[in-house]
Parts: sequence; C-alpha cells; structure tokens
Amino acid sequence: MEKKNIDWASLGFGYVQTDYRYVSNYKDGAWDEGALITDANVVLNECAGVFQYAQTCFEGLKAYTTEDGHIVCFRPDLNASRMADSARRLEMPVFPEDRFVDAVVRTVRANAAYVPPYGSGATLYIRPYMMGTNPVIGVKPADEYQFRIFCTPVGPYFKGGAKPIVIKVSDFDRAAPQGTGHIKAGLNYAMSLHAIVTAHEEGFAENMYLDPRTRTRVEETGGANFIFITKDGKLVTPKSDSILPSITRRSLMVVAEKYLGMTVEHREVFFDELDSFAECGLCGTAAVISPVGKINDHGREIAFPSGMEEMGPVTKKLYDTLTGIQMGRLEAPEGWIVKID
Ligand SMILES: *Cc1c(COP(=O)(O)O)cnc(C)c1O
Repeated sequence: MEKKNIDWASLGFGYVQTDYRYVSNYKDGAWDEGALITDANVVLNECAGVFQYAQTCFEGLKAYTTEDGHIVCFRPDLNASRMADSARRLEMPVFPEDRFVDAVVRTVRANAAYVPPYGSGATLYIRPYMMGTNPVIGVKPADEYQFRIFCTPVGPYFKGGAKPIVIKVSDFDRAAPQGTGHIKAGLNYAMSLHAIVTAHEEGFAENMYLDPRTRTRVEETGGANFIFITKDGKLVTPKSDSILPSITRRSLMVVAEKYLGMTVEHREVFFDELDSFAECGLCGTAAVISPVGKINDHGREIAFPSGMEEMGPVTKKLYDTLTGIQMGRLEAPEGWIVKID
C-alpha cells in the first residue's frame, strides 16, 4: 500500500480529511449494518437532537505503525465500553461493543495510506462519535441516532521533546458531583472552553480542576487525568466519581505495577499534599504523558523537584514503557494491542 504524500513530522494536531469514514444509523430501535463511505459531511435536520440539546458523546484513540511494520491500535475494547457508558448516561442507544471495535479496525484499514510510518512520531487519531439525529424540540431523547468514525493523521505531540508545562488551579468547575464528568460527552468540553481560553490568556497551558463540593481534592484537567510520583517512587493518581476514566491512566497503573515494580495508589488526592510529590504529569491519548513543572494556585507556585527542563525520571520511565508497548518494542499485556494490518 502506497502512503499518502504527507510530511508526517510537520503535521500538527489538526483535522486532515482522509478517504473513508464509518457510518451506522439507528432507527426504529435498531442499528443498520453500517458502511464505509467517502462523504465527509453530515447533513441533518435543523432541529436534530444534537443541535438542540447536545445529545452527543465521543471517543478518541490512536493507530500506529509498530517497529516491525504492522498497523495496530491500542485497547479499543476500552473505548467501546466507555462509549457504551457515555451512551447510557445520555439516554442514547449503545452501539454494540464488538461492532465498535470492528468498525475501528475497518476504518483504519480503509485509511491505511494515512497511518504514519514507524519512527515519524506521528500517529493516526481515531474519533468515534454518536449523536441524536431526528428533530427534537420538546426536551427528550432523540429516537434516531448516527454513529460515525473518522480518522486524521496527527503529528508528534511534542516537537523537540516534552517540555514541562505550567498549569493553574481553576476557579471554574469541570464536573458536578453526580453529574457527567465520568462520561466522554461533548457538553463537558463546551463548558470548559471558556476556562481553557482564560487560562491560555493568562499564560497557563492547562487548568487543574478541584472537586466542586469541597475544593480540597484534585480532579483532572479538561482532557487529561493526573499522575503524581511520590519522593519514594510510588504512582499516585486521583480517584473520584466525576473524573473521566482515562485509558492511558489505567494502562499506566498496570505498567507501573507490572513492568516497573512500583506501588500504585488510586485514591483521593488532596490539594494540600501536592507539595510533597516529586513529579506530576497529565495523561491521555493525545500526548500519552505531558510533564507538569509547576502548578499556580492564585499566585502561589507549587514547583515539582523534577523542574522545568525535562520530564521527571519516573514519569519518563512510565512514558517510555507505555510507548514501547504501543509501538511493539516491548511485549504487551494480553489483549492490549489489536492488529489491523
Ligand atoms: C478523553 C479524556 C481523558 C483521557 O482519556 P484517554 O482514554 O487516556 O485518552 C481524560 N480526561 C477527560 C476529561 C477526557 O475527556
């Protein structure tokens, strides 16, 4: 298969239209058989549920070329089950999990010419999503839905190495207790845009959200979970019902324990204890781990001993091990890597 003529190394994290996308429609209580199509546009009625009441959820995962030249994707079954959870919370029909994984495989295979080569640092980002499509004006769930998957090649997240970022403690809340913070709904992002634009204007890369009820516990950022490394080398990661269960974070917990022999604590993390940690990072599919150098709390700085020059040493080991598994340089736990080609 001939690759597209793309300068992989200079790609950013943006939308590049590829040749095929997967579409399945839900009507009269059932999903149709689904198909790969070439039309990148979605044409819906002006009153579609997604436009009026934001009935939509999404997923994000990546496909890569491994060291030995195979195209693979990473734990798509977890994206399938998380999207099923999102759908149930939003009163949408679940797209069957086995069909989800199959549709991811078919979409990537059809767009194999856009999967960046091994060593380029670039990857193919895959975006499954679902929306209410029929007209809805009274407040209720739609009756008809569309499930789609498109993909887009994205560049290396860190050009020239991962530099630690400075983040701020946000005065805005991301997710209410008993709300929708634990599902991947567009609505969680719509209302975080003002907070992130504000943080960027103030010179910060990201927001740290605290638990809205007490403002004493660390939750997450707008799109990534936190990991902390203690001075004695443990991995600590916040636990809360309103945190989105990151697949990267869950994978790092396994990597820490099973590959690196670390102790892992998944528990409430109090803002007051951040001073005692040695390293901090943000984890998610896009960057795997972004190191955090400083947290600004209304002018008071918490500076991690790992500094502002490079990723902390333990964070780096976690990063290298997980990306080694993803790229086929290290043996993966059973079921983590799904071979596409
Ligand atoms: C998607 C997302 C993450 C990261 O999850 P991954 O599965 O690791 O990509 C973290 N927090 C939020 C709010 C998210 O939407």
